[in-house]
Amino acid sequence: MPAVDRSRLPSLMAAETELFMRRTPQSAALHAEAGRSLLGGVPMNWMTRWPGTHPIFVSEARGGHFTDVDGNSYVDLCLGDTGAMTGHSLPATVAALNEQSPNGITTMLPSADAIAVGDALRERFGMPVWQLAMTATDANRFVLRLARHATGRKKVLVFNWCYHGTVDEAFNVIGPDGSVIPRPGSSGWAVEPDEYVKVIEFNDVAALEEALRPGDVAAVLAEPALTNIGIVPPQPGFHDALRRITRDTGTLLVIDETHTICCGPGGATREWGLDPDFFVIGKPIAGGMPAAAYGMTSEVAERISDMTTGDDADVAGIGGTLTANSLALAAIRATLGAALREEDFAIAVPLAERWAAGVQSTIDAHKLDWTVNQLGCRSEYWFCPPPRNGGQAAAAVDHELDAFLHLWCINRGVLMTPFHNMALLCPAHTTDDVDRHTEVFAAAVAALVV
Ligand code: PMP
Repeated sequence: MPAVDRSRLPSLMAAETELFMRRTPQSAALHAEAGRSLLGGVPMNWMTRWPGTHPIFVSEARGGHFTDVDGNSYVDLCLGDTGAMTGHSLPATVAALNEQSPNGITTMLPSADAIAVGDALRERFGMPVWQLAMTATDANRFVLRLARHATGRKKVLVFNWCYHGTVDEAFNVIGPDGSVIPRPGSSGWAVEPDEYVKVIEFNDVAALEEALRPGDVAAVLAEPALTNIGIVPPQPGFHDALRRITRDTGTLLVIDETHTICCGPGGATREWGLDPDFFVIGKPIAGGMPAAAYGMTSEVAERISDMTTGDDADVAGIGGTLTANSLALAAIRATLGAALREEDFAIAVPLAERWAAGVQSTIDAHKLDWTVNQLGCRSEYWFCPPPRNGGQAAAAVDHELDAFLHLWCINRGVLMTPFHNMALLCPAHTTDDVDRHTEVFAAAVAALVV
């Protein structure tokens, strides 16, 4: 089996780093200047996680592309890790923001857009009752709180190496001895994870049965397919088993569609006929403005109604002062009306297919045992045969190779999603954009392979 010649990596990486520094001097200068006041020279810590000596500073982003402060232009296959999945600065969203912003940004009262937003969420995602949140992280937190309230149980079950935002319960993994331990790198949750969390592997029906049998789990929090340790699709029958076992044990099922909205206008829930108790959606629904939402069945809404109304409704532990502000409502209304529709996926999904085929052609040409996965308008490659669960996926992560491929792509005007070898395609991308990646990827692999 042909393989990557790892002995080439240090010199290849050194050459790419030098090229990066030559191409991005203004970004380097801004990063140094930002270090005066900002932790790590960035306004948010993940921005240090890109390859290269400093993050690229963006001057403008539009559709499927952006330009940096040095004047380099990029095909953006990261799209703000799904926040800009509609394409950057969707004209309908920008128009709605321009219209609303002179007329009040936040008031702690609903605007008339709330009706259109509620109806759009219900029609699109199928759940009858909705609430808003600022981010998908918030929405997941609130849903877990509501699930604990509804069931009177305190534990939550998550899948090994999942990601649902900075949600404490989901920052745990299966340790070497099978116990629940904090995910490497996580900081500061002050309780013993075992008290509140069960973690099992995705696709493991027997473990699910065993974990839920005692009847002490309030909710299972699940992505329809794992997308945050790379894409790990569900095995046939897994979702049926998940729904059956959660129902049999009185456990609520939370489906987090924040990334799997890439499957289609109603997410994987509609595409695959899932039937959750709670449905969470964040990131792209307001075209990149901070806004998220969670839906629930009428039965769940009934069970939590005491907590969400009455004198103590403001201290129920769900929501925040800026949540559902007028600007966010206007942005969701406009975005759901003009994007993420059947006709948008009809453009973006074939682009993802073309992207996957391009990557596969290089894999085939070199007879590598690498894998390409595709989930709607999202696609990615692995340096190994397909992992079946989060544990296998985490074991296969190759940070060194990832960093090299990402930096090689950046230096040739293609931005991949960080932390993975993942590309998200939007209707504003073109076949030329996809072919640019195919060409750049082929050259990178040719430089690596024996
Ligand atoms: N859920 C899923 C499935 C996610 O992938 C993410 C972020 N990657 C989140 C929730 C959290 O989104 P946010 O950071 O916008 O709160």
